[in-house]
Amino acid sequence: MLKKLLIPAGALAFIILLASFLKEPATIKPPQRTGLKTIIIDAGHGGKAAGAKGAFSYEKDITLDIALQIGKKLEKAFPEMKVLYTRTEDVFTANPWRADFANKNAGDLFVSIHVNAMPAIKHSKFIGYKRNLLCR
Ligand SMILES: [Zn+2]
Repeated sequence: MLKKLLIPAGALAFIILLASFLKEPATIKPPQRTGLKTIIIDAGHGGKAAGAKGAFSYEKDITLDIALQIGKKLEKAFPEMKVLYTRTEDVFTANPWRADFANKNAGDLFVSIHVNAMPAIKHSKFIGYKRNLLCR
């Protein structure tokens, strides 16, 4: 009888011993309050206004993607904060409309996202120095 009780008790003690060596899961600190109630995220350009043109993309698509990703992260990190977007799809919105949108919604912070493009760097010549050794 005692042997029957010792085996489960030993197994339980072993599990508790193992568990004591496990790291506690990282505690996620709740985000601190920002004081911002409303943030406006503005994906630059859109629709007929493509913005900068890269080798295989347009600025309007990149800014929209960035805006949506940032907004999603902000909504998750600061659920008490209202996150509004000037656009969530590929549509043209005039700049005055964007400003009115921010003002009408009492935006505390307006983040306008833009990216730029530049031609590919061409390495047409070697830059550096060459050392000639004369061996006699
Ligand atoms: Zn731009």
